[in-house]
Amino acid sequence: MTENVNRIFFEHLIREDGQEDLCFAFYKLSSGKSRKTGVINEVILPEFGDRNVHGNVSFNSAYFDKVTSYALANNFGICFIHSHPYPGWQGMSFDDIEAEKMLAPRVKAVTGLPLVGMTIGTDNYWSARFWIKETPNTYERYWCESVRVVGKSLKTYFCDDIFPKSNFGEEFKRTISSWGDLKQHEISRLKIGIVGLGSVGSIVAEAIIRTGIRNLTLIDFDLVELKNLDRLLAINRVDIGKFKVDVQKERFLKTELISDLSINAVPYSITEKEGQEAALDCDILFSCVDMPLPRYALDCLSFANLIPVIDGGIDTNPKDDLSNIDQARWKTHTIGPERICMQCLGQYKPEDAALEISGELDNPNYIKGLPKNHFINRGENVFGFSLSLAGMEIQQFLSLILKPRGINYGPKEMDFNTGNIDFDFENECRQDCAISQGLLGCADELNKTLIIKHLGAENNRMKHENSIVNKKNKGFYTFFKESINSLFSF
Ligand SMILES: [Zn+2]
Ligand SMILES: [Zn+2]
Repeated sequence: MTENVNRIFFEHLIREDGQEDLCFAFYKLSSGKSRKTGVINEVILPEFGDRNVHGNVSFNSAYFDKVTSYALANNFGICFIHSHPYPGWQGMSFDDIEAEKMLAPRVKAVTGLPLVGMTIGTDNYWSARFWIKETPNTYERYWCESVRVVGKSLKTYFCDDIFPKSNFGEEFKRTISSWGDLKQHEISRLKIGIVGLGSVGSIVAEAIIRTGIRNLTLIDFDLVELKNLDRLLAINRVDIGKFKVDVQKERFLKTELISDLSINAVPYSITEKEGQEAALDCDILFSCVDMPLPRYALDCLSFANLIPVIDGGIDTNPKDDLSNIDQARWKTHTIGPERICMQCLGQYKPEDAALEISGELDNPNYIKGLPKNHFINRGENVFGFSLSLAGMEIQQFLSLILKPRGINYGPKEMDFNTGNIDFDFENECRQDCAISQGLLGCADELNKTLIIKHLGAENNRMKHENSIVNKKNKGFYTFFKESINSLFSF
């Protein structure tokens, strides 16, 4: 849910008189590869007489009818939410279970979607569960591993039984002494996705691993090329021809820093089904891409699925006569609900994303005709700049979670020429923004419209497959030749 929705819940449900209260809300499903999320986007608070708050809180049928007809009209799933007068993660009483068991079939019959039950504690700690239809007459309760509140910051409430805390030893002593156990358990259980494993993405990934994160998803269909060797962290000549995501995964597993480390290497584009589903399994995404289309896709996915995206970009030009660098700047920002979108920030032009979708960029003749400063012809960068940008992106990430002294900041830009970090940027969308206003909480309804065929990614996977087959064949040929030689050698 967004911070705004959370505020509505908290103000209504956590009462001065200490009584429990209830309300209904609506969600859309967001489907990752291994996770389903209920994205809450609207609330209907009870009006006078809709519920009775004394003792065990209860609601009348007029309120429930209002809720079901609104859900039906808007293709929403339904959440039933109540409060407990204690802090911390909230389990369910016998009465709670009976009430939700009774609601589950009625909600499923009307909406086609499972009932989501949620409970809030006095300290705003959330618990949630889906009621899934197992047989025609039985509904099973599945606890959610986490509930996320997204806005200026990201607050995640974990169910420790489903998603246990890690044991951090001596390896993380210095990290934990910086922000304490509680924050370490929150940060380390976040599922982080990095889209683009180029120079910035590879450094961000390194920092994420060394912060103690257990679940990392790497999304990139690129193969390592010779021209990458001056900019990819810890990549060697022997890695040429391998998927960037595979090389990094293998390397991180070798660190043996985190015992329960899980890395998902996804050699797909964010606009392909496999890439998108992997991204929807994540709580935060790093956008380390340099093309307009993946930026556009991440922008939309962020608002539709309430996933903060940390994006960054480097702009550097040489002098015309190539006698020196002329100027360089790099900028990073966290985008998502209750923050600005990348389009309003000017991080890409929608017409450039449309050009990529059109397939014209796969046509060599079309590319030949483009000017030198067209985005497809750019790529000037040096490792040192990427290092600085990756550092700033990690700061955005940590600040989003830790919010020290209650401060969350907006976009930051490093001006290499002056050495200044500029921060005077807009951090809110235009009022008529089609992304932050139009797509907020749309989840799967939007997601499926963003999936397109990606020829470049398909070609790379084919090239990779062929190179493996060739290697195998070559291996067999060598073995055969050696065997023949050994027959004649004595
Ligand atoms: Zn209860
Ligand atoms: Zn916007």
